[in-house]
Amino acid sequence: MTVVVDAAAIAANVALLCERAGVAMCGVVKANGYGHGAVGSARAMLEGGAAMLGVVDIAEAVALRRAGITAPVLVWIHGADPDFETAVQHDVELGISNFAHLHHAAAANAVVHLKFDTGLGRGGFAAGDWARAIAEADRLQRTGGLRVRGVFTHVAGSGEEPDRAQLRAFTDVADAAAVLDPELRHFAASGPLLSLPDAGFDMVRVGIAAYGLHPDGSTGDAAAAIALGLRPAMRLTATASNGVVPLGFRHGLLAASGAPILAGGRTVRVAEVGADRTTLDADIDGPVVLFGDPAAGEPSADAWAVAAGTINYEIVTRAGGAI
Ligand SMILES: *Cc1c(COP(=O)(O)O)cnc(C)c1O
Repeated sequence: MTVVVDAAAIAANVALLCERAGVAMCGVVKANGYGHGAVGSARAMLEGGAAMLGVVDIAEAVALRRAGITAPVLVWIHGADPDFETAVQHDVELGISNFAHLHHAAAANAVVHLKFDTGLGRGGFAAGDWARAIAEADRLQRTGGLRVRGVFTHVAGSGEEPDRAQLRAFTDVADAAAVLDPELRHFAASGPLLSLPDAGFDMVRVGIAAYGLHPDGSTGDAAAAIALGLRPAMRLTATASNGVVPLGFRHGLLAASGAPILAGGRTVRVAEVGADRTTLDADIDGPVVLFGDPAAGEPSADAWAVAAGTINYEIVTRAGGAI
C-alpha cells in the first residue's frame, strides 16, 4: 500500500486559510500531523504562512525541535506531573488549564496561554474559576517568571448556535483577561473558522482544514472542501488482485462496506474489510485509489468516513498511522 502525502497541498491550504482568517494561524500537527507526518506537515504549514504550531503533548513538541523546527510551538494537554522544565528548555509555550499547572509554569519561567472552558467541557479553567485564574496569573506575571502570551478556548464546531454561545463566553473572558495584556487571543479551530467569520480574534488554530478536509465531511462528497478550494493532502493507493486489495484493519482501515474505490477509471465498492485484506464488489486487477482528491475524480476520505460511520479526521489519522 502507498500513502502519499502532498506537502504542497498542505502549504496551499494553509495559505488559503490564512488569507480567509485574516489573522495569524497556529497549524495543528498533533497525532502525527493527523497521520500526515508531524514534521513534514509542520514545515509545509510554516511555508504556507502559519506563525505557530500546535500539539497536545510535550513529547510531540520536543520532536519538532529535534527536527530543527524553530517556530513557536504551543502544547495544551498535560498529565498530573508534567515536565514543564523540558518544555521551557526547548522554548515551547504551554496551554494552562488549572491552578497547579499555572504555579508549576511560573516556577519554570514559562510562556503560557491560559485556556478557559467556555462550554465544551474538554479542559480549561471552569467559568467559576475565571476571575481567580486571571487574578493569580496577573500576580505571577507581575512578580514571578510567568509570561501570559495568550488566552484561548476550544470550540466544538458542532453547530452555529452552540458555537456562538461559546463565542460570547470567550469574548467575556478575553475582556476580563485584558489586564494580562495577552498578545494572542485565540478561539477558532477549523469549524468556527469556516462558519463564524467574526471569530478569528488574533489567531486561529487549524488542523483538519489544513490537511484539505472540511470539518463537516458528512455529505461524503467533499463538496464543501472543493468549494473552498481545499486540496486533500493524503492519497491512499494499492494494487488489487482478483477483486481483493491487500489492506485491512491492520493497515488502519475501518469497516466501511460500500466505500467507493477508483479502479481503472471506474468506481467500485468495498464489499468487506478484513484484518489484512479488503474484498471489492467487482473482480478488479490492477492499481486502485482508496481515497485521494475528489476534485480529480478520486474517492474522498469523507466517503470512507460516511461508510465507516466516523469522521474524516479518523480515516486519515489511522491510515497515516500505519505508514
Ligand atoms: C485539535 C485541536 C485543534 C484543531 O482542530 P481542527 O478541528 O482539526 O481544526 C485546535 N485547537 C485545539 C485545542 C485542538 O485540540
